[in-house]
Amino acid sequence: MTDLQAILDSIHAELLPRLGEGKVADYIPELAKVDPKQFGMAIATVDGNVRSVGDADIPFSIQSISKVFMLTLALGKVGEALWKRVGREPSGTAFNSIVQLEREEGIPRNPFVNAGAIAVSDVVLSGHAPREAIGELLRFVRYVADDESITIDDKVARSETQTGFRNIALANFMRAYNNLNHPVEHVLGVYFHQCALSMSCEQLARAGLYLAARGTNPITGHSVVSPKRARRINALMLTCGHYDGSGDFAYHVGLPGKSGVGGGILAVAPGIGSIAVWSPGLNKVGNSQLGAVALEMLAARTGWSVFGD
Ligand code: GLN
Repeated sequence: MTDLQAILDSIHAELLPRLGEGKVADYIPELAKVDPKQFGMAIATVDGNVRSVGDADIPFSIQSISKVFMLTLALGKVGEALWKRVGREPSGTAFNSIVQLEREEGIPRNPFVNAGAIAVSDVVLSGHAPREAIGELLRFVRYVADDESITIDDKVARSETQTGFRNIALANFMRAYNNLNHPVEHVLGVYFHQCALSMSCEQLARAGLYLAARGTNPITGHSVVSPKRARRINALMLTCGHYDGSGDFAYHVGLPGKSGVGGGILAVAPGIGSIAVWSPGLNKVGNSQLGAVALEMLAARTGWSVFGD
C-alpha cells in the first residue's frame, strides 16, 4: 500500500522553500490580499479516507473550479442540449479571451473558459431568480462535499462585480449573439457568486469524489451523475480544465484537473480518488504554479497518471 500521508508530507516539505512563487491574481482586488505563502493539499480516496497536509483546512476562493459543479448541474438540467450553446474543444487561448468568441459567433469553445462558464450559468439560471440559482449551486456543493458549513464569500463576489469588466464584455457579446437568455446582470450575478465559493482543500477533495468514483460519492452513497457523465466531465477537465495550459498540465501531471485563479486545483484520479491543492501564486496562464508542481510530484510518486505509471 502506498503511504499517501508520507507522500503528502514529503511534497509539502520539498515545496516549503518555494512557497510564494508565482503571482496572486490581482485583477480581483479581494484576491490580491491573500497571503501567497499558504499551501494546502488533500486527497480523498474512494475508500472514504481523507489525508491532508499544510493549510488544507483553510477555506479559499475556488473561483473557476466552481465551473465543474455548475457544468454538472447544467448537464442535469438540459443534458446533451447544452452542447448547442457551448463547445467541447480546448481553446488554446486565455481563460478570459474575447477574440475567439467573435470569430466563432458567440459559441464559447468549452464550458471552462469564462465565456463558456457564463453560458452554463445562464442555463442553470433558467426558471429561477439569480438568488435561487446561487442557492441551488450552494446546496449542490454542500451535498457532494457532505458539508453544510460551505459558504460563498460575498466580499469576493462584490469585488469581482465591481471590476469584472472583461466578463461583462464577454456576457454582452454572447447576449448579442443570442447565446444568453437572461439579462447580463442576472447571469453575471450568478457567475460571480459561484466563483466566490469558499472551500478548503479537504472540502474540495471530498466534493470531487463523485468524479473519481463513477458518479457516486462513495462516502455518502449519494448518486450524483451516471458513470458515463462522470467520465465525460473528466474528459473535459483533462482537455480544457487549465485553459491554454491544459496540454502542459496533461504532460506533467496526467490527471483531469480544473484550476481557479484563487490558486486552487481540483484533480481527479479515476477509480482512486480526488485531490485538491492550494497555493495562491499563479503562473503566466493563471493556473497555480506550485499547485501543478505538487500534483506532478504526487502523480510521479503514486503512478496515478491516467496515461500509465
Ligand atoms: N472569477 C474569475 C474570472 O471570471 C475566474 C477565472 C479563473 O478562475 N480562471 O475572471
